[in-house]
Order: sequence, then C-alpha cells, then structure tokens
Amino acid sequence: AKDNGKNQYSLCTPDMKNEVEKNMKLSNDLYRALERNELSIHYQPQIDLNSKEITGLEALLRWKHPKYGMISPVVFIPLAEKNGLINSIGKWVLKTACRQNKKWQDMGLAHIKMAVNLSGIQFINENIADDIEKILKESKLDPKYLELEITENIAIKETDFVIKVLEKLKKIGVSIAIDDFGTEYSSLSRLKNLPIDRIKIDMEFIQGIKKSPKDQAITGVIINLAKSLGMNVLAEGVETAPQLDFLNQKMCDYVQGYYYYKPMTAEEVEEILKKLKES
Ligand code: C2E
Ligand code: CA
Ligand code: CA
Ligand code: CA
Repeated sequence: AKDNGKNQYSLCTPDMKNEVEKNMKLSNDLYRALERNELSIHYQPQIDLNSKEITGLEALLRWKHPKYGMISPVVFIPLAEKNGLINSIGKWVLKTACRQNKKWQDMGLAHIKMAVNLSGIQFINENIADDIEKILKESKLDPKYLELEITENIAIKETDFVIKVLEKLKKIGVSIAIDDFGTEYSSLSRLKNLPIDRIKIDMEFIQGIKKSPKDQAITGVIINLAKSLGMNVLAEGVETAPQLDFLNQKMCDYVQGYYYYKPMTAEEVEEILKKLKES
C-alpha cells in the first residue's frame, strides 16, 4: 500500500492492529538486516568492585533499520525467535564478539571476558556446544575469555537436557552466567545442580535499592546465595552512588551499569582499553 501521512507514523502508535502490522514488517525486514550490515554490537564494561578494573564486556545487539532508525533488541529479538532467524543472528553475534575480543587481545590490550547473550531457542534447537566450539577455534579466542548468558528460564526448564549442554560447554572451557536472576520462577534445588559460574542480579532489584527495603533484602539474599553456592555475583543496572555503596557493603563482586559505562561502540571501547593500558 502507498504511504499516506498517517501510515508513516504507524510504527509509533500503540494501536493494536498497527502493532501487529509493525511487527510483521520488522520481522520481514530482519531477514535482510544481516546481509545488509544493519546489525552491530555495542559493548558494556563489567567492573570488579574490589579492583575497580574492567574484567569483562557484555555484547549487546543493535539494529539500525534503514527507515525507522534504531530498534531495541527487546523488540526484535522476540521477532527473531518467532521467525527462526535467532539461530543465524545468534551465531553472528558470537562470531563477531569473539573475533573482536581476540583482536583487542592481539593488539596488546586487556585480556578480559566477552559475555554473549543466548536465546532459549538457540540453546534448545541447535547443537549449540559444537557451534560455539567451532566459533572459538575459528576466532582463535581462548575459551576462558567467553561467557555465555542464559536466562533463569532456560536453566530451569528441561533440566536433564540443559545440564548435558551446560556440561559440554563447561568442558570446552567457557563460563556460564544466569541472567536476570530473581525475575522468573526458579528452583533453588535445581540451581544447585547446574554448572553455573555467575549470577547476574536483575536491574529491577538494583534500581529499587534506594527506596525499597524489600529490594534491598532480595539483593542481599541473592548475593549470599551466589556466594554459598560458590558462584560469583554481578549486579546489573547500577546507576547511582547509593546503589553502589549498598552493593559494596553487601560484598557484591561485580557491577555493570550507567554509573560506570553505557554500552558503547567497538571504537569507543577500544579507546578506553588503550587509555587503561597507558595508565
Ligand atoms: P539484558 O541481557 O538484561 O541486558 C541488559 C540491558 O540493560 C541492556 O539493554 C543494557 O543496555 C541495559 N542497561 C545496562 N546498564 C543499564 C543501566 O544502568 N540502566 C538501565 N536502565 N539500563 C541499563 P539492551 O541493550 O537494550 O538489551 C535488552 C535485552 O535484549 C537484553 O537484556 C537481552 O535480553 C536482549 N539482547 C541484547 N543483545 C542480545 C543478543 O545478542 N542475543 C540475545 N538473545 N538477546 C540479546
Ligand atoms: Ca544479558
Ligand atoms: Ca540482564
Ligand atoms: Ca533482561
């Protein structure tokens, strides 16, 4: 249909029908996004609270649509999960992030972990462990510098299958983090059987720390839980000094959030890593 003045804005209206149309259009456009170089990765540093050093980077996918501009992964990842593209997109993210990390290491910059988000679909449908092993070999990145982030949901479902895959991944030498911890149903008795290295506390709790004693309590409990299970713990979405103070006081290991750094382009991260090397 030909665009009239109204249709041009259909992407912004909350109207239900337009929402469905918008998603169908985006889902279609996503097929060509990879080959047309519309996807890119931003990287957000993860900070060790003891040393205050950058010890990792999380790879966060970005889509610059030629017509609509930047589209949030919260919008297009679910579309990719529905239309089947998540497997090829996910592999592209893994490949690009591993190569980028290896490139920085070869330049003599910091040797740090690259954390990559895995969708549940990717985890269940594909032979994910073999794919990841192949990508690591091809990029020549030491597996100890790759961390995979999976959500609580995946980790708890299909336990036997998931444990098998996670153990395969551990054998390869990558580390595993549970993302968005505390927001989904989780079974602590199953958690103890999973080969998990890190718990990432969801930012919902971190951002409530200042006002809500309940969020403080939950955050404190998750930190202690991680430690008693021999896992390390990272707080996400840290934006303010009081949040940081609380996390320091509770002996949280790592933080990630706007207080230190926003997600940045590879070029911006490279500048920061170079400055760190000089200082
Ligand atoms: P996530 O994995 O929980 O990533 C953290 C999100 O919080 C990111 O949003 C990040 O930009 C944002 N963030 C970081 N620090 C702060 C802060 O201090 N304050 C606030 N308000 N936000 C902060 P982003 O980049 O929009 O990504 C959203 C979600 O999209 C991710 O949530 C993840 O679930 C998904 N995603 C992103 N990239 C990928 C990917 O490559 N594969 C898959 N499967 N999912 C991805
Ligand atoms: Ca994540
Ligand atoms: Ca998260
Ligand atoms: Ca999330």
